[in-house]
Amino acid sequence: MQTYDVVIVGGGISGLSAAYTLFKRGLEVLVIEAGAEVGGAMKSVTSPEGYIFDCGPNTLATKEPRMWAQFADLGLTDHMVVSGRAGKRRYFLKDGKPLEIPNDPIGMARMQHVSWAGKLRVLREPFVPRQTGSDESVAGFFGRRIGPEVMTRMIDPFVAGVYSGDPAKMSIKATFPAIWEAEQRAGSVIKGFLKKPKDAAAKSAVKGPKMRSVTFSFAGGIATWPKAIARTLGPQRVWQQSRVSDLFHEAGIWRLVVERDGSATTVETRAVILATPAYVSAELVADLDAQAAAALRGIPYSSMAVVNLGYRRSQVAHPLDGFGVLAPSCEGRNFLGLLWSSSLFPPFAPAGRVSTIDMMGGSLNPIRDEQTREELIAQAIADNEAVLGASGPPEVVNFSRWPKALPQYNFGHVERIAALERLERARPGLYFVGSYRGGVGVPKCWKNAVELADRVAGTFVGQPERIATE
Ligand SMILES: Cc1cc2nc3c(=O)[nH]c(=O)nc-3n(C[C@H](O)[C@H](O)[C@H](O)COP(=O)(O)OP(=O)(O)OC[C@H]3O[C@@H](n4cnc5c(N)ncnc54)[C@H](O)[C@@H]3O)c2cc1C
Repeated sequence: MQTYDVVIVGGGISGLSAAYTLFKRGLEVLVIEAGAEVGGAMKSVTSPEGYIFDCGPNTLATKEPRMWAQFADLGLTDHMVVSGRAGKRRYFLKDGKPLEIPNDPIGMARMQHVSWAGKLRVLREPFVPRQTGSDESVAGFFGRRIGPEVMTRMIDPFVAGVYSGDPAKMSIKATFPAIWEAEQRAGSVIKGFLKKPKDAAAKSAVKGPKMRSVTFSFAGGIATWPKAIARTLGPQRVWQQSRVSDLFHEAGIWRLVVERDGSATTVETRAVILATPAYVSAELVADLDAQAAAALRGIPYSSMAVVNLGYRRSQVAHPLDGFGVLAPSCEGRNFLGLLWSSSLFPPFAPAGRVSTIDMMGGSLNPIRDEQTREELIAQAIADNEAVLGASGPPEVVNFSRWPKALPQYNFGHVERIAALERLERARPGLYFVGSYRGGVGVPKCWKNAVELADRVAGTFVGQPERIATE
């Protein structure tokens, strides 16, 4: 039987980042990935015409020096594509047209997304009484603190773009814990951010060099990163097309049943990290802890479709001079955002061409099984015609359907995660990581996984060599 220090189930960015960190700390690791390729949601394709299409996540933003160091270590630095000025210019839809969001105070004061009354209401935030209580919806919280108009016009499209969520159902405490905590501590979000607690101020004082946030991808698309990790770990440490179907804990040893090459094999390990989506982790721990399994099953996922379209430049009237346009739900559109990927990353379209990404669906407007690929593509083409002045058919189309796209941090999320924490304490050597815990964006998944791996590696310090192999 094969034995390991740590087995990581799931080869998305969470699992791979954890595995890579543990590997660099000298531990014997194995990643088990069900799919034919690593990367999970991070999928990229290159069309025969030379377009690079990201099928899931499409932009990364970080100011983490440690992530940069990892890219250097993986030999990825020269393959990075960093967005220029376009990355800073963002639009929200207003009356069916993209309207730029200013990012300086004078521009903010003048912006037309919100009325004067709406803007003045934001200035009252420090005087709005604190609401104590266990939790509140994202819509309720921001509506109360900065007013319903800014909530509807500015927060809603952001929440839709990042979480594909329903602000009336999302938990403020789980989705924006720092903002919730600022109100609890200082009675106002603005005051709370201006006056950090002493220990947070001390922590930031001892941190290493500060970096500005950079928006980036890789020359071959976003999947370049997980593939580079898998390549460095090597096929002996990353099993693809291998599905974990069962998990046992006996006498301090974890045993995993893996379906691989048409048969079932068992691997033994001292520690196991479940880096699978919540609904998969639920079934793997169902026999260990029914409560934790129910908590994991209770995390809903939004459904989405992503349509990448490639056009000749002359076909699109809009200058596409930015990141893209996000749609507040009050605009009544099918899409969450239309992103201008070749403006952000020019190598993603051949010369004289542009590419766009239509992100459709989400919790408020889910993609239904009966909506066909053709219908959704036709919808995306119509969106580009109406909003960006595109004319004629695109020369290339790429379509991806995500029935379970993003976990929703809805009411009860904090309690669900507490059930996992109880199981982790009860079963030493079992850990949960992934986009349903601590943030959905790739950089958050990466950070949570690396920090978890540091903690797991710490438990091996001073331990005897790994368990005997038969
Ligand atoms: C459409 C879309 C757009 C997004 N856009 C952005 C964006 O622009 N920027 C951003 O930062 N984030 C974005 N995100 C979010 C981000 O991509 C994800 O949250 C993140 O990639 C999740 O990584 P993960 O490793 O936690 O999970 P996953 O990527 O889901 O990986 C889990 C892995 O587990 C494997 N697995 C499942 N069951 C088993 C089993 N039984 N045995 C073995 N393996 C198993 C799966 O095959 C999968 O590879 C987007 C997500 C989607 C879906």
